[in-house]
Amino acid sequence: MDTTEAFVGLDCVDCGERFEPSEATGRCPDCGGILDPAYDLDRVDLSRSDLADRPFESMWRYRELLPFTREAAVTMDEGATQLVECPTLAEEMGVDRVLIKDEGRNPTGTFKDRGATVAVTAANEAGATDVALASAGNAGQAASAYAARADLDSHVFLPSRANFVTKAMVNVHGGDLTVVGGRIGDAGEAFEEALAENEGWHPVQTFVTPYRHDGKKTMVYELLEQMDWETPDAVVYPTGGGVGLVGMHKGAKEFRDLGLVDDLVPMYAAQSEGCAPVVRAVEEGRDVHEAWGNPDTICGGIEIPDPGASPLILDAIRESGGGAVATTDDEILEAAVAVAARAGVEMGASCAAAASGAWGLAERGEFGPDDTVVLLNTGAGNKDADVLRSHLMSEGV
Ligand SMILES: *Cc1c(COP(=O)(O)O)cnc(C)c1O
Ligand SMILES: [Zn+2]
Repeated sequence: MDTTEAFVGLDCVDCGERFEPSEATGRCPDCGGILDPAYDLDRVDLSRSDLADRPFESMWRYRELLPFTREAAVTMDEGATQLVECPTLAEEMGVDRVLIKDEGRNPTGTFKDRGATVAVTAANEAGATDVALASAGNAGQAASAYAARADLDSHVFLPSRANFVTKAMVNVHGGDLTVVGGRIGDAGEAFEEALAENEGWHPVQTFVTPYRHDGKKTMVYELLEQMDWETPDAVVYPTGGGVGLVGMHKGAKEFRDLGLVDDLVPMYAAQSEGCAPVVRAVEEGRDVHEAWGNPDTICGGIEIPDPGASPLILDAIRESGGGAVATTDDEILEAAVAVAARAGVEMGASCAAAASGAWGLAERGEFGPDDTVVLLNTGAGNKDADVLRSHLMSEGV
């Protein structure tokens, strides 16, 4: 495997055992825990000016802090997304600045590309012929795109409620699509059954592959650089399985440990009231979530009733000094429309949970007038054009 110098192995977050990337490609072989790529930061020599000298064109510009070399990477120059200043929103929320990290500007229109580039590179380096996963939609589309690029076959299980764009594009990328009646849990069960029957499939499922959160950590690297190394007061993140939140917190710790910044970045989880296991766990002071009984939200990307990595999510929120907030679907759709109409930025339905959550946090006095609040726009709004347009229709527009 074409690994980088500082990448020293995969550490199990439960039993602490370390594995060679060639001997473990999914969960911990000993205990089934989540594996986390570990870096020996003493081997990383990276300064602010080194980074300033590099073009801002792809997340692989942080090559020292990714597991595989840029030469080995299955990449379409994902990442390097814009951070858009939104003064009207800042005024409405009563804060100094609102910035939107616009992940809609990725090859398949969402931040799932940052995870897919690393996970598919790992699969390719491991000699896989097929990658497979269940997803709410966007991760499946991203995996099928990167698999196509690496000439691997992809097997994608989506629930019937996944939006049309993601289903169609899996096929367009040449992926093998299975649509499963019901919700994400049903797609997950069908995927597990198929995986048991197909030994050659390499899973790139959320927190099964060790690499998706490691790819997504680059969002916070970029953010800190784009903010001229000021730490924002809040990053509000639409949270499903928590891959991005856990990844960003990891990235912030790495930059702090490298001496590039002094502080961690406060991470706020935003969810819909129709499925808010993480928010409830934060409110109840738990270390692990309780599965949500009747998930029901229009925000398919964050309708994850039983997020297996919740201990990592909750740790990240507490350690970073962040928080959690849930708002209703109606408020979320209203926020998507408000951001599009007043700031121009197009946010998908799931993504708008971040905007709606930020408004909720502002209303309950979480922010001060000097604060900088970053909204993570995880994906392009036009993937959800029908949902957003129907919301206007429901209001008689
Ligand atoms: C996957 C997804 C999320 C949730 O991401 P996690 O990292 O699993 O919490 C949020 N928004 C969109 C658009 C997504 O596709
Ligand atoms: Zn273990």
